[in-house]
Amino acid sequence: MKPFRYDRAGDISGAVATLAGERAGVFLAGGTNLVDLMKLGVMEPDVVVDVRRLTSAEIEDLPDGGLRIGAAVTNSDLAADRRIRYRYPVLSQALLSGASGQLRNLASTGGNLLQRTRCVYFYDTTTPCNKREPGTGCSALEGCNKDHAILGASGRCVATHPSDMAVAMTALDAVVRTRGPGGEREIPITELYRLPGQEPQRDTTLEHAELITAVDLPPLAFSSNSRYRKVRERASYAFALVSVAAALQVQDGVVRDVRIALGGVAHRPWRARKAEDVLRGRPAGEERFRAAAGAELADAAPLRDNGYKVPLARNAMTRTLLNLSGEQ
Ligand SMILES: Cc1cc2nc3c(=O)[nH]c(=O)nc-3n(C[C@H](O)[C@H](O)[C@H](O)COP(=O)(O)OP(=O)(O)OC[C@H]3O[C@@H](n4cnc5c(N)ncnc54)[C@H](O)[C@@H]3O)c2cc1C
Ligand code: SF4
Repeated sequence: MKPFRYDRAGDISGAVATLAGERAGVFLAGGTNLVDLMKLGVMEPDVVVDVRRLTSAEIEDLPDGGLRIGAAVTNSDLAADRRIRYRYPVLSQALLSGASGQLRNLASTGGNLLQRTRCVYFYDTTTPCNKREPGTGCSALEGCNKDHAILGASGRCVATHPSDMAVAMTALDAVVRTRGPGGEREIPITELYRLPGQEPQRDTTLEHAELITAVDLPPLAFSSNSRYRKVRERASYAFALVSVAAALQVQDGVVRDVRIALGGVAHRPWRARKAEDVLRGRPAGEERFRAAAGAELADAAPLRDNGYKVPLARNAMTRTLLNLSGEQ
């Protein structure tokens, strides 16, 4: 492991200022992803700035009926919060489907959002990887790509985003609050993550030294009727091959409103707006749900080993919507 300097700033401004002056510096929260990457030589920062005690570890009620989640709230605390469990069950379920109890006790809201891809070549420093080392090539294109993206990929990178929590937050239209060298920002989560394009080394639209301070969940009248379905290779302790986060409002047999996001299919949590458009104002039912899933996946471009994700995503979306509509 390369030697590095550990810095514990006194406040948020100090942490941002310290990192702004260190091009090869990073923030450290729970360390459950960052420290692994440092041990493997995938990330080699000169400085790590510990922010775990700087941001809020509270979940606050907002005047509009939403919730503000401090960036230091642990995944365990967030999943267990009564307001989350009853008002946003999709988020609680997504968190509980991820990692293990011990990891969730340490993992933070900010760190979970910014965890890096689980592409095996990204972790293997003996192989080319444009995300780890821009310009070297993408080993997954001709390598083992069964876990990789079917939507929105580029010739430079076909990785997927690994976070379950972020998929649920994408369905819920969460807003990420940040403080950086240029001041404060509120970023809709659908604008936080990037597609790989020509710069797969950039996961997000955040600037260097921009700290996530909190995440706001807006109120959503039907978010209590929401759920998370995760398909993986074993029952626990595995990342999603495909996942679905959905909230559904059906009245008199008609879909009044719906939110859907997919995980495991793209470089970012994938908001399924085409499927939502097919559903709104139309009769609820298996045929319509399957048509909506088909519309979303029409642009899927599977690789050699991951064609199975297309029917898997279609079936997972259809089944999740059926469960939510009560039509089991
Ligand atoms: C064995 C194992 C299994 C796992 N399984 C799953 C799973 O099934 N599903 C899932 O979703 N996750 C899974 N994870 C990942 C886990 O959820 C993440 O490691 C964790 O959420 C990261 O949070 P952290 O606080 O430890 O972040 P850290 O490791 O400290 O940081 C992660 C990244 O975020 C940056 N960062 C941290 N906080 C901030 C902030 N406030 N502002 C800006 N940047 C920040 C850091 O610089 C770093 O780049 C697994 C991890 C392991 C080790
Ligand atoms: S898919 Fe992305 S992360 Fe994986 S090897 Fe290719 S460039 Fe690297």
